[in-house]
Formats: sequence, C-alpha cells, structure tokens
Amino acid sequence: MQNIDWIRCPVCGNKTRDRIREDTILRNYPLYCPKCKQETLVEAKNLQVTVIKEPDAEPITYRVQNSQVVGSIVFINLLPNV
Ligand SMILES: [Zn+2]
Repeated sequence: MQNIDWIRCPVCGNKTRDRIREDTILRNYPLYCPKCKQETLVEAKNLQVTVIKEPDAEPITYRVQNSQVVGSIVFINLLPNV
C-alpha cells in the first residue's frame, strides 16, 4: 500500500491541500497554504520535503510520515537566475 500524506506548511505547520506519495517527486513546486495564505517553493522526494528559500536562508528538510514532522535541516544554495 502506498504511503500518502498531506504536505504540511513549513511556515505554520498546518496541513495544506497537497498530498504526496512515496513515489511523488516535486521540483520547484509552489506549495500554497490555505491557513496562512503563504506560498512556499518546495521540492519533494521520498516523502521528504525541502523548502527552497532565498540563497541566504537555510532551507529546511522535513519528513512527512504518519502526519508527523520529523527531520533535519540541510543547507542548499539556490543559484540565482542570471
Ligand atoms: Zn501555513
């Protein structure tokens, strides 16, 4: 059985209206949160969601599993569009 879960908003932690499966791959996906009405650019792979922020910020990677957020912080730098 596929593992499917709602993507949580990295800003407020509430569930968004988007779901991902174990085999879902998102790239530069604008995740919209209906709660705090913010749009966050994310990537997702293996139920792992990475928030893409400004080059100076620290992106957060968290794991979505059984409606719990467990995870770690990773550092990813986005190359500016030239
Ligand atoms: Zn939110």
